[in-house]
Amino acid sequence: MNETMPNFFKKRVFLTPERTAVVFENKAYTFKDLYDLTFDIAGRLSGKEIEKDQYLAVLLKNHVDTLVILLALQLLGVKAVILNNRLTTEELAWQINDSKVTAIITEAALSGTLENEVSIPLILKEELPSIPFKEPRIVEEIHLDDVCSVMYTSGTTGNPKGVLQTYGNHWWSAVGSALNLGLTEEDCWLCTMPLFHISGYSILMRSIIYGIKIVLHNGFDEQKVVEDVKKEKVSIMSVVTTMVPRILEVTGEEKLPFYFRCMLLGGGPAPLSVLERCVEKHVPVYQTYGMTETASQIVTLSPEYSLNKLGSAGKPLFPSQLKIIDSLGNDVGPNESGEIVVKGPNVTKGYLYKEEESNKNIQNGWLSTGDVGYLDEEGFLFVQDRRSDLIISGGENIYPAEIEGILTSHPSVLDAGVIGKADSKWGQIPVAFMVKKGEISQQELVQYCQQKLAKYKIPKEMYFIDEIPRNASKKLLRRKLREKLEESMESGR
Ligand code: ATP
Ligand code: MG
Repeated sequence: MNETMPNFFKKRVFLTPERTAVVFENKAYTFKDLYDLTFDIAGRLSGKEIEKDQYLAVLLKNHVDTLVILLALQLLGVKAVILNNRLTTEELAWQINDSKVTAIITEAALSGTLENEVSIPLILKEELPSIPFKEPRIVEEIHLDDVCSVMYTSGTTGNPKGVLQTYGNHWWSAVGSALNLGLTEEDCWLCTMPLFHISGYSILMRSIIYGIKIVLHNGFDEQKVVEDVKKEKVSIMSVVTTMVPRILEVTGEEKLPFYFRCMLLGGGPAPLSVLERCVEKHVPVYQTYGMTETASQIVTLSPEYSLNKLGSAGKPLFPSQLKIIDSLGNDVGPNESGEIVVKGPNVTKGYLYKEEESNKNIQNGWLSTGDVGYLDEEGFLFVQDRRSDLIISGGENIYPAEIEGILTSHPSVLDAGVIGKADSKWGQIPVAFMVKKGEISQQELVQYCQQKLAKYKIPKEMYFIDEIPRNASKKLLRRKLREKLEESMESGR
């Protein structure tokens, strides 16, 4: 995929300079405004000898300045290693070392303890305007195979891996999404997702490729979401599961405006109860499945199936393919579970400096996702869980996400995490950790589960705790629950 294309951002500014590119804190910027700001920053970075093909770390909050810096790096052909600002200093230092970046662009509010931990220069965004301007060498033409960004996976299952995302990956991801959801120049995408995550960065790329307005928030605030949907005529927004009930609470009985046509829900399992509430309230929710390695969505439920295939993540987008395979690598039949493997021009070419792992995970273009799921007779994907979290009890497969979905559908359960515990009779048994939001006894919960789950899936032990461990992307860390269980078993001995 080594075709060339004009620099995405420059081309967009040439095509539609007067259109609004972004609204941030009630201020609108056209593509031309954004380009002028970006060109200036590209010149300041050039003044610091930052140039093409260098790997440079970026550690910033959601802000219009962040868009400008990320786009300046694209103009210069610098490869941005985009760091998660919710990580601890230690985690950041690990990724900075792992990626061998030469410098970090960050901001005063985030630079604090990092300064003492890393030996490479920190460039504060606040200092950028005072760096002497040097005429930037703008990359006029990009190769689709060139690395645009590097993002670390969430580290849910182990150490995070730096995923290489090329311009081609971003291009095909944006095209695949538009071919599914449709596109008009009136579209407006609300971005409350972090720009350091592919869910947020891909919104920036769509704005550039499609020429549409995005509304950027510096975090998730449900009140502000509902206000801006109306004020800015938002038509699409990306969300993760935990955001949905919070938005529904604010809308109450009121329907979202007609032009709000898509709530793209991804990043993790979506419990059926949440999807059903959306349907009840006429919220146009679209389940989607993707990962850092696929430059955002690779499977999304098309609009016409949103009701009768509730719970499915949909079919692979136009440019992509998907198979379910067994442990020997053979395709399995419909409704049979196996590992999800995907292929397409949006799929990464590998992990940064990890040739062996890349070759193991990507074979003939097919990426092993580490997730388990099945396809129904019509080819709709149902994602079940991560392979590493599967519980096998008495020969039956149990998907913890299914049990968690049932537990959290109970009005007195705020959050839940389920893991397997070794058992001499069954091999493994499911054990649940929960956070309560009202009074509820274990017995009542068991009765509730009995109505909804087969007997072998009902957690045999239940623990109420204050907080379910989640990582910086708010993903459930089942490995931490396993540690908790081991600790409690040791102290009980
Ligand atoms: P790591 O790879 O380091 O363990 P991670 O896989 O959580 O971290 P991401 O790339 O942010 O990092 O997340 C992608 C994963 O999120 C998918 O592989 C899948 O497990 C989960 N996921 C995404 N969408 C869905 C979905 N619709 N249903 C269930 N799980 C999903
Ligand atoms: Mg992963």
